Amino acid sequence: MSFCFIILAGGISHRFSSNRSKPYQKIGGKSLIEIIVNKANNLKEIKKILIVFNKKDKKKLMNLKLKNIDKIQGGKSRQESTQIALKKLVKSKKIKNVLIHDAARPNFSIKLLKLIIKNMKNAKAVIPIIEVQDAIKQKYDSSLNEYIVGKNRNEFFLTQTPQCFKLHEIYGLHKNRKNKYKDDDLSLFLDLNGVKFVSGEKNNFKITVKQDFDNLKQILKSKMRTGIGFDIHRLVPKRKLYLGGIKINSKIGTLGHSDGDPVLHAIIDSLLGATKLGDIGRLFPDKNKKFKDIRSTKLLNEVIIKLNNLGYFINNIDVNIITQTPKIKKYQKKIEKLICKICNINNNQINIKGKSTEKLGIIGKEKAIACEVVSTVLSYD
Ligand code: ZN
Repeated sequence: MSFCFIILAGGISHRFSSNRSKPYQKIGGKSLIEIIVNKANNLKEIKKILIVFNKKDKKKLMNLKLKNIDKIQGGKSRQESTQIALKKLVKSKKIKNVLIHDAARPNFSIKLLKLIIKNMKNAKAVIPIIEVQDAIKQKYDSSLNEYIVGKNRNEFFLTQTPQCFKLHEIYGLHKNRKNKYKDDDLSLFLDLNGVKFVSGEKNNFKITVKQDFDNLKQILKSKMRTGIGFDIHRLVPKRKLYLGGIKINSKIGTLGHSDGDPVLHAIIDSLLGATKLGDIGRLFPDKNKKFKDIRSTKLLNEVIIKLNNLGYFINNIDVNIITQTPKIKKYQKKIEKLICKICNINNNQINIKGKSTEKLGIIGKEKAIACEVVSTVLSYD
């Protein structure tokens, strides 16, 4: 089954008091759109991701580092934007099913996506729903503020996204002018034959006001994990010296199976620790010839891809590089810049400190360089 994941990011965020549109608000260094794309990329059934954007956000969207994503400018309303996306997909003929999702709902789980896709095998639509837990009243006349009390909440439920449909079915319903669109695409169905409902997720709430965003931050923070890393390498003649991925002019360099960069090794170990993925030796064994003299920047890059694929992103990294010489201050900015690039983080998420041991011990006698790191990661799934 081939699916396209449509992300509706064409709204104007009326109720959200910020200069930046909601889909581009960041949390842990990632925008809501990036978080959603990353999750959708986890499923092999999803062959295409299509972002429907608002014209005024075009530049912001183009600035995001998103790979293999289609983009299309949306319309004046949610329905118009959806129609534009569906029309494009119908023409391509490769896609049979669509998942239509609001960019303001970044906190769905990959498990929910899998459940929806699985249920599409024998349905024409699959919709995640939430039971109503609060008491419901209906406004009888909103201008008079008169209420009919005692509506039975069991007769109601709330619909979320992603909502999944057979592409031609939903496109047909959109084209039929008789159908009234109300808030979401399920509203176009006149009867619910072939529509399956699955349990939605309370945490997959729609970010509408600032407080929703703060709640999302709290949820993600509660899933924050910490890792610690340490590494030390002997200094010997006739070896190059790499620290934090930067080559440093020196008569002596670090001994190691790889390029012997204690900074990147300690960062890798701290990240693997935070995500319970073992340690650097297990991932890149020094018995393996493949890793002989390999640049540690490549190893860190591999680890970052692994983490991102599992839904983890770096929250912050704090580094102590312990040397007698060289003094780290001179290289600090350059190292930070390189690590930010590999880890896809901003420079306010990393801190590099140089420490000496006051000429004490093997580090003080310039026989070794050590590094210690603490890092925290966020899990978006
Ligand atoms: Zn090492």
